[in-house]
Amino acid sequence: MSKKFRVFATCDIGESLELLRKRAYEVEVYPEPQAPPKKLIIEKVKSGIDGLITTLRDPIDAEIFAAGKDTLKVVAQMAVGFDNINRADANRYKLPFTHTADVLTEATAEFAFFMLGALARKMWSAEHLTRENKWSFWHPYLPFLGDEVTGKTIAIIGTGRIGLAMIKKCCGFDMNILCYDPAYQNHEYVKAIQETMDLRHAKGIQKEKTWIKYTSFEDALKQVDFVSVHVPLLREGESETPTYHLFNEKNLKMMKPTAFLVNTSRGPVVDEAALARALKENWIAGAALDVYEKEPLPADSPLRDPAIEDRCRLYPHFASAGKITRLSTDPNKGMAGRCVQGLIDVLEGNYGGDITKMPYVVNKEAFGKLTNIAS
Ligand code: NAD
Repeated sequence: MSKKFRVFATCDIGESLELLRKRAYEVEVYPEPQAPPKKLIIEKVKSGIDGLITTLRDPIDAEIFAAGKDTLKVVAQMAVGFDNINRADANRYKLPFTHTADVLTEATAEFAFFMLGALARKMWSAEHLTRENKWSFWHPYLPFLGDEVTGKTIAIIGTGRIGLAMIKKCCGFDMNILCYDPAYQNHEYVKAIQETMDLRHAKGIQKEKTWIKYTSFEDALKQVDFVSVHVPLLREGESETPTYHLFNEKNLKMMKPTAFLVNTSRGPVVDEAALARALKENWIAGAALDVYEKEPLPADSPLRDPAIEDRCRLYPHFASAGKITRLSTDPNKGMAGRCVQGLIDVLEGNYGGDITKMPYVVNKEAFGKLTNIAS
C-alpha cells in the first residue's frame, strides 16, 4: 500500500479498528462513550483525515464536508439508517458515504417481534408483579390478561429489508399480514410467504388459513391488531412520501382501540405528543418503542407517564444490539466489520475504484462515472 491512510472514529467500534491498524492505517478514536461535539469532528476533518467513522449520533453535513474538502474521502457510518447524514450535501461535495445494511436486518426484526410480544402479553407488568411480591394467587383473569399474538393481523409499514424479515417472523406465528410501502413492493416475496402459509396449513402446522397482501396505508391501519414500522426517517423535501410524523394524531386515530403500535425505525416517524395522548385517552391499546424524537428519552417525556406505564414499552435504541450484529469483524455478520470494509473499499479503490460498484456506498448517484478516488 503506497499511502498511509488517517482515520478518525467518533466512537470505539471495537476490534474492527484493529483490522485498519494492521493495514498500517493511523486510527484515532474519540475516547468517550458519548458522541463528540460537532466542533471536534470538524477539527479532526480539517486536520486532513482520509476517512471518518460515524454513528447515528453524529450530525454530518456541509460544514463537515467543507472542512474536509480535498482531503476527506469517505464517511463510513455504523448503522443502516443515515438520516444524520445530509445526502444532498454529501452529493454536492462528491463525498461517498457508506452504511451497514443487511447485517442488522434479522436482529432488528426479531427485536421488533419480541417488543410486540412483550407489549401484547404484558410481560413487563407480569415480571414486576412477581419481583415486587404482588403475585398472591393464580386466578383466571386477575390482576390482568394479555392479548395473544398468534393468529392476529399485523400491518408492516415499509417492506424493505427489515420489514420483509419481520414478515417472516410473523408468518411463523400464523399471523395475517397487510403490507404497505409506496416505493418498493416485493410481490415475489409476498407470494412466497403466501405459499409458505398455504403449505403450513395443508400440512397441519397451522390450524387456520392465513393471508398476506399489499394494501393502502389507511386500509392497513384500520384493520389490524398490530402495526410495525420499518421505514427510514425521511423529512419533507427528501421524499414524495415523507415519514416524519407519519404516525400523527390523524393516523393514530385510524387504528383500532385494541391495536398496538411497534416502532423500531426512527423516533421522529412517530409524533410522541400525539402518541402519549393516544395511550392516555385509549385511542389505541399500547405502544412499544425503541427509538425517540430525542435520544436518550428526556426525563420529562410524556411517554414516561405512570398512567400508561403498563401499555407503553420503552427500549434504549437497542434493536440491533446483538453481540455479533454490532461487533463482529466479519463484514457479512457485523455492523463494525461492514463499516470498516466500506471505508477500505473507498480508500483503497476496490472495485476498480468505481464507487457505483461498491456495495456499501449509499449515495452512488453522485458518482455516475468511474472515479478512482484512491489515486
Ligand atoms: P430499507 O431501505 O431496506 O427499507 C425501508 C423501506 O421503507 C423501503 O422499502 C421504502 O420504500 C419504505 N418507505 C419509504 N417511505 C415510506 C413511507 N412513507 N411509507 C411506508 N414505507 C416507506 O431499510 P431497512 O434496512 O429495512 O431499515 C429501515 C429503517 O429501520 C432504517 O432506515 C433505520 O432508520 C431503522 N433501523 C433501526 C434500528 C434500531 O436499532 N432501532 C436498526 C436498524 C434499522
